[in-house]
Amino acid sequence: MNMRLTSSPRSGDPSWARSENARSRFGLVSRAPAPSGESTEPAKVRLHDICLSYRSQTGEQFPALDHINLEVNTGEFVCVVGPSGCGKSTLLHLIAGLHRQSSGEIWFAGTPVAAPGTDRIMIFQEHALFPWLTVGENVAFGMKMKGIQRREREERTRYYLRLVHLAKFEKSCIHQLSGGMRQRVAIARALATEPDVLLMDEPFAALDAQTRDILHDELERIWVETGRTIIFVTHNVREAVRLGDRVVLLTFRPGRVKSEFPIDLSRPRHLEDPEVAATARQVLDQLREEINQSLEAEYAAVIKPKIEP
Ligand code: ADP
Repeated sequence: MNMRLTSSPRSGDPSWARSENARSRFGLVSRAPAPSGESTEPAKVRLHDICLSYRSQTGEQFPALDHINLEVNTGEFVCVVGPSGCGKSTLLHLIAGLHRQSSGEIWFAGTPVAAPGTDRIMIFQEHALFPWLTVGENVAFGMKMKGIQRREREERTRYYLRLVHLAKFEKSCIHQLSGGMRQRVAIARALATEPDVLLMDEPFAALDAQTRDILHDELERIWVETGRTIIFVTHNVREAVRLGDRVVLLTFRPGRVKSEFPIDLSRPRHLEDPEVAATARQVLDQLREEINQSLEAEYAAVIKPKIEP
C-alpha cells in the first residue's frame, strides 16, 4: 500500500484519523510489499490479459476491453478513470461475475471468478433501495438473502447504520431521506453482508457537490475502519485522487490500461488540497488525450452519414 495517514495527526483531522486504532490498523494489515518486493499474499483481485468484445446490433463484434492486466491488493483503494464508454463499468461487472470476459482470467483471492458472489458487492450511482422497506429492512435485506440469522441481522444492521451515521433513521422510509442519506444506506447495505471487496460504479455522480464532499469523508473513514478493498469507478479525476491509493487510467475504446498513478499523499485528504489538485492535473493531462479521441470518434460518427453518398 502506498501511503497512508500522516505520521503525526493534523489538528484539523477528524477523530477517526487521530485514533490509535485507525492509525495502527494501517500498520497491522499486511498490505505493504514484503522487503524483497514480493507480495506475501495473492492479490485480492487479479485481472490477467482480459479482453471483452460486445456484439453490435448489426452483428459485428467490437472490442470494449483490450488486454487488461491489473492487480488490486487486499485493503487497497483503487480508482479507475477514463473517458465515457471506455469500459470502466464493464470492468466492474466482470470482477463482480455479472459478465464473462471473451478471453483472459480474473482471480479473486487466488480463485478464478466464475459467477457473482457475496464476497464482491457492487454499489451503483442509483442506490437501488427498495422503497417499500424501511432503512433498517433495506440494510438487512442482503443478509437475509445470505441466510444470516435474525438476531445477527439486527445487530449488524444497527452496527452498520451507526457506521454511516444513520442510526436514528432505522425505522424511516426511504422517501424521507435525502440523496446522500440514501447512498449511505446503500453503502451500509453492501457492508452489512461483509464483502471483501466493494465495487463502486460512480456512486456519487448524481449527488450535489456538498453532499459528495461529505460522502468522500465518510467513505474514507469507513474504508479505514473496515479495512475493505475498494475498486471505485469515476469520471471525476479530482475525486479519484482524493480517494485512491492508486488511480488507473483507461484509454478510449477499447479500454486498455494507459497509466497507473500511485497517490502517495497523506490522509485524510480534501478535494481542495493543492497536492490533490496538482496530482489530478497530471492525470488529467493524459486523460485529455483520450477524451479528445472519444470526441473525434463521436464527431466522425455524426458527420459520416451526411458525407457518405
Ligand atoms: P464506461 O463505464 O467507461 O462509460 P461501459 O463499460 O459502460 O463504459 O461501456 C463500454 C463500451 O461497451 C461502450 O461502448 C458501451 O456502449 C458498450 N457496451 C456496454 N454494455 C454493452 C452491452 N451490454 N451490449 C453492447 N455494448 C455494450
